[in-house]
Amino acid sequence: MTTIHGINIDKVGRCRHYHQTNDIVGLKCDRCQQYFACYKCHNALKDHYFVPCAKNTLPVICGNCQHKMNFQEYSRGCCPHCQSAFNPNCHVHYNIYFK
Ligand SMILES: [Zn+2]
Ligand SMILES: [Zn+2]
Ligand SMILES: [Zn+2]
Repeated sequence: MTTIHGINIDKVGRCRHYHQTNDIVGLKCDRCQQYFACYKCHNALKDHYFVPCAKNTLPVICGNCQHKMNFQEYSRGCCPHCQSAFNPNCHVHYNIYFK
């Protein structure tokens, strides 16, 4: 069981910043190697800024089923394991989460 860290986090990975039905992914920081609900949660809880992971690693975790995926799988817009839809608005933050 991988923990998704965040502020006011719920059981599928929604936090105080992003809490719509489809805000269920966790994103991994390359420096601390932990998954967070969003970069705002990471930066509030850690002593360093979020460091993006390479796209061909497993920087994304589905908060619904815990499936870990690379950027290519994530960018299809839903979980390849449980088919939960992801929030398409996360695209505007790609440069924060992936390199
Ligand atoms: Zn970190
Ligand atoms: Zn957050
Ligand atoms: Zn899933």
